[in-house]
Amino acid sequence: MDHEQFKQAAHSAIDDIINYFDSVPERRVIPDIEPGYLRPLIPESPPDEPENWAQIQEDVDKKIKPGITHWQSPNFMAYFPACVTYPSLLGEMYSATFTAPAFNWLCSPACTELETIVMDWVAKALALPECFHSASETHGGGVIQNSASDAIATVIVAARERRVREILLSEGLEDGSPEYEDRKFDVQSKLVSIASDQTHSSAAKGALVAGTRFRSVTTRLEDNMEMTASGLREVLEKCDRSGLTPYHLTMTLGTTNCCSVDRFAEIKAVLQEKPAWQRIWVHVDAAYAGASLVADELQYITKDFAEGVDSFNTNMHKWLLVNFDASVLFVRNRLDLTNALDITPVYLRNPYSDLGTVIDYRNWSISLGRRFRALKIWFVMRTYGLNGMKAHIRKTIGLGDLFADLVRGRPDLFEIVTKPGFALTVFRVKTPATPAADESTGCVSRDEAANSLTKKIYELINSRGEIFITGTVVDGVYVIRVVSANTMAEEKYIRNAFDIVVRTTEEVLKEQ
Ligand code: PLP
Repeated sequence: MDHEQFKQAAHSAIDDIINYFDSVPERRVIPDIEPGYLRPLIPESPPDEPENWAQIQEDVDKKIKPGITHWQSPNFMAYFPACVTYPSLLGEMYSATFTAPAFNWLCSPACTELETIVMDWVAKALALPECFHSASETHGGGVIQNSASDAIATVIVAARERRVREILLSEGLEDGSPEYEDRKFDVQSKLVSIASDQTHSSAAKGALVAGTRFRSVTTRLEDNMEMTASGLREVLEKCDRSGLTPYHLTMTLGTTNCCSVDRFAEIKAVLQEKPAWQRIWVHVDAAYAGASLVADELQYITKDFAEGVDSFNTNMHKWLLVNFDASVLFVRNRLDLTNALDITPVYLRNPYSDLGTVIDYRNWSISLGRRFRALKIWFVMRTYGLNGMKAHIRKTIGLGDLFADLVRGRPDLFEIVTKPGFALTVFRVKTPATPAADESTGCVSRDEAANSLTKKIYELINSRGEIFITGTVVDGVYVIRVVSANTMAEEKYIRNAFDIVVRTTEEVLKEQ
């Protein structure tokens, strides 16, 4: 493809992309195909002769689009969203154009320097405490990772290395000595990473990657599925009794099931109770709900991160207008990452890195090569401005409140199960015989008939493909989750989704 052909193809692709966005609300959200649909549509071998762009684009239309689940549709209300906007698409184009896997500063200074600047912008936008900024006294800073799972696994590995080193140095062993190496794995075998039973599975996976144990803190509907001080203390004391060493804790701002927020202040107070517990690396996973911190009225949440929190992550690619991947990780002390991850063979050395005056992001993450993702974040922040980003968050939170109000307005059919918030409503369907909620706690009853009814209605709605929502179980209660954080979300789609839920519920109840 020469540059003239590229120009024509790109114009045609951009027209098609714009048409796609314009038509996506009318498309069935989940594809109407069976597994294996694509194999018969694509030749078994690549073509011997070059094909032209028109043929390729036609195949995107006829063969690929029918197999797409339309995450960008305003009727996609499942999981958490994966947003995309025009400025972030432009960022992708430039990033691909430069294709500079800037694993160290010299490999493309602009990539590294823009990432540092933009991470400071993001830290300010989210009102993260000073310690997470690149110029902080604690040597903090931010780095863009592939996904929240990568960010979480990275900090768990760094936490393991930090704790092991502290223990071995306190035993008088010299870093890097053969005794140190031997003893390291004894110590590691006792380490425990902790999270709640509502924490995303990436925390357990991170412990697996780090080769350590994992324990979870039980949460209860009575506590809105939040990790509490007493729940955490119970696990910590059990570890102590078993001779195990807790070294890492994930607290969540916006859990995957129901967007609950762990009780940061009381959890941090528990960690002060024993010297060994004070050494635990505390991470805040705000993969989805962290985006909401751009709104001034929610920034009070970050005051709890000023002390006693080592790291924080959020996915701008969920709710903050930047497309996948834009997972931002902030650490209080970058040395915790670089001490754990810096391995420098001769071929990676250069005068700038050797002087230690530049950032080499390869030492802040597992991968060596990295994409120029700061560009798309920069483009989005400039195109929307902070006020545009706040407006998006406030609008979608408002739509979530509207959906929750609609659910509350039909107490004959539905019950809210956990506190609605962050553009998520978690509710269940009642049978005529479902016992009332507990008056003292406000908790819905555990009712098997309501569970199977809710599941049936949820599955029927999704099978029809008009909207896409998710079901899950919280503390024994089967629930439906509806998220209104989609970039294209609007009141008419939220009301339509509620009408579909009501219609389907009435249809199923009638059948029964
Ligand atoms: N943490 C939370 C709270 C999540 O909801 C998710 C995914 O939805 C993750 C972590 C994992 O995100 P990723 O897909 O970026 O690894």
